[in-house]
Amino acid sequence: MLFKRIMAITSVCSALFLGGCNDDNNQSSSSSSPQPKQLQPIIIQGALPVESESMAAKLDNVSIETIGGWKFWKGTYKSYPVIISKTRMGMSNSAAATAIAIQRYRPIAIINQGTSGGHDPVLHVFDIVLGKYTTNIGAFRTPKQPVGGGSDSLTWNEAFDVLPDDESDPEPIAIRKFEGDNDLLLAAYNAKVNYTKGQVVEGTIGSADVWNNELDRINFFHTRYGTSVEEMEAASVAQIAQQFNVPFLGIRILSNNITNNGAYDPATGEACQDYVLDVVEQYMKAKSQTN
Ligand code: SAH
Repeated sequence: MLFKRIMAITSVCSALFLGGCNDDNNQSSSSSSPQPKQLQPIIIQGALPVESESMAAKLDNVSIETIGGWKFWKGTYKSYPVIISKTRMGMSNSAAATAIAIQRYRPIAIINQGTSGGHDPVLHVFDIVLGKYTTNIGAFRTPKQPVGGGSDSLTWNEAFDVLPDDESDPEPIAIRKFEGDNDLLLAAYNAKVNYTKGQVVEGTIGSADVWNNELDRINFFHTRYGTSVEEMEAASVAQIAQQFNVPFLGIRILSNNITNNGAYDPATGEACQDYVLDVVEQYMKAKSQTN
């Protein structure tokens, strides 16, 4: 009986979904600053406190939800529904935070943002890379070597595609690149004028549970995968978002770049968050006018 009732409520919720029904979206239409359309929230992710807390502090009407090890600040920014998600570091944590957020909050889109290390010598600390592409740089099939044959990662030429179209292929070899969403990229371009601490460029974000400090290895990724920067989350989030058909963009600031002696600057974490809030405003403004 109770089960049937829950099912009935769930299907009503699903039916109203496009109209803004989610667990938390209870704003009434009598709000004094009118929004043309009720939008689903946008999720902005940051791995660490320095990559998420300054955005969270700028939300209005905030409530906090913790699910497992993952923290979410739900609120509004310039009256648009926004959820800040602290994913913690790495591919597994960010994948889990993404799947939880999509199931629970039904977001209109997801932005994964934060710090990164430069692979391209023309980019400098405080420059921002918009992830036209995001790719996993931690999945390989290595060449065969006998016992005593050693190991040389510069010969690891076969990227392993962990999301192959053909699931019957047990060893799919390909560099998979996830494309950033066009409307999010457009919003990022519109927000560019406000960012004065560095350049904002399109590029490829490479992700793995690795911090590379070998310049030959970095050059391998830059030339073979076309990476502009590396970090530890964006490709994992892109992979999950794609499987749920949720629009996604990675936005990464360089906090360090050893290819041109760019020393780590902790102030980059906050600069990126400020820029991304501008991107969010542009995106939600456009969506509220067109939806
Ligand atoms: N606070 C430092 C160190 C962060 S530790 C900084 O910002 O540089 C690793 C985290 O920072 C990960 O979540 C990863 O996404 C990001 N990161 C920054 N630079 C990185 C690099 N050179 N290589 C890998 N990850 C990097």
